[in-house]
Amino acid sequence: MTRSDISKLKKLKKYPRWVTIVLIIIFIFYAAFSYFKENPLVPSLKPSDDEIIVHSIDVGQGDCTIITSKAGNIIIDAGTGEAESHIRSYIKSLGIEKFEYAIFTHPHEDHIGGADMIMKEFAVNNVILPGVTHTSVTFSKMLDAIEASDAEIIEAVPGSIYSVGDIRMLILAPNSKKYDELNDYSVVVKLEYFENSFMFTGDAEKLSENEIIKKYSISLLDCDVLKVGHHGSTTSNSEQFINAVSPDIAIISCGKDNEYGHPHREIKKLLNDMGIKILRTDELGDISFRCNGNTIEIIE
Ligand SMILES: [Zn+2]
Repeated sequence: MTRSDISKLKKLKKYPRWVTIVLIIIFIFYAAFSYFKENPLVPSLKPSDDEIIVHSIDVGQGDCTIITSKAGNIIIDAGTGEAESHIRSYIKSLGIEKFEYAIFTHPHEDHIGGADMIMKEFAVNNVILPGVTHTSVTFSKMLDAIEASDAEIIEAVPGSIYSVGDIRMLILAPNSKKYDELNDYSVVVKLEYFENSFMFTGDAEKLSENEIIKKYSISLLDCDVLKVGHHGSTTSNSEQFINAVSPDIAIISCGKDNEYGHPHREIKKLLNDMGIKILRTDELGDISFRCNGNTIEIIE
């Protein structure tokens, strides 16, 4: 072997080492990217013994709320299907393995898109549904997953009250057996934790809102936070209904530049004119509230 042969060999040796280093760097970046894609940086939001935390999760044009407490967890809606991986990783980041109640307000995809995932991947004790069916694949996937689970199935009956520790859930709607609009079958629930209260109305429209106003007293309907009906559409959120609920804070769950123009200008004006603070998932992403039974703190 000549000197030039040896120097050629050295060069050859150097080349693979250089390639190996580059490959290792690419691998590290890829692994980190994959990890953070599956586990986004959700702040650690664990309620203390005497708190609950309400999470309005950014699912784009859809709804998903999770309530966590030491006594147990609740999920209200799980849409859309596209947001399934975000919902899953958000729940896992909170360390949740089990829900005492899952409420799927009505059978539209933007509310039940991830419902089958919830039923398959987490333990759910009770599922509350309105008494209405749908022909969509998403709906039948949800039903199959519920049937295959150990959950008790409860049809939403107005006036029913369910508890998880000191959390009380009052079912306020649907109040009729037959509606023309699927949205009006939405389960409407008032959630109370001592002096703190939230109202979740799904996509219930003005017809259902009117039934609620007629049936219940103003003092019962009064809430601190309203998750605005139907993503801020004018089909919901009548002035009388907003007046009856008279929230301090309105959450609007909608997708950025969504095709429906939600939230509608009229609803934003109505809420603004009434001095109600608006928090939108399309602007803020996931929104959380820490509730100690007395005050409600928005967690930035
Ligand atoms: Zn909807």
